[in-house]
Amino acid sequence: MPIYEYRCNQCGKVSSLFFRSFSVVGDAACSQCSSPDVARVISRVAVLKPKLERLESLDVDRAAGAVNQLDPSSVEHWARTTGREVDGELGTNFQEMADKVSAGERPTELYDPAYAYRYAVENKKRELRGEPEPPAPWEHPAANDPLGAVGLSEDE
Ligand SMILES: [Zn+2]
Repeated sequence: MPIYEYRCNQCGKVSSLFFRSFSVVGDAACSQCSSPDVARVISRVAVLKPKLERLESLDVDRAAGAVNQLDPSSVEHWARTTGREVDGELGTNFQEMADKVSAGERPTELYDPAYAYRYAVENKKRELRGEPEPPAPWEHPAANDPLGAVGLSEDE
């Protein structure tokens, strides 16, 4: 449920307004004096929460499964539509990828767009929840230390 804060331009009071859905956002009025002359207050919660909710509502498996990497026209269409939807929010470059495919390049020979999409969504959700970044597999201390990986210390 979208929650937004508004400051009333008539009486100055800040109201938290709850909307039934995103489609009715905009019919805002001051809860104190009922004036419709109100302005959105951009607060951390008000901005991040809908973003996180939107990301959590994405069907990532379905979207990731919708691209056929062996078919350039499928890749181009997928990258174009997905990029239009999420590039700005996730910092991905799927629209650029679509341009490359359109120009005859085959970036998917080196790069799995479904994996990249899934990773970008999970990474952004983690960031919005304020969770720490997990270490990359090659940064795990045990990766370069076979003894450490099985739990043996040096003096055993
Ligand atoms: Zn008011």
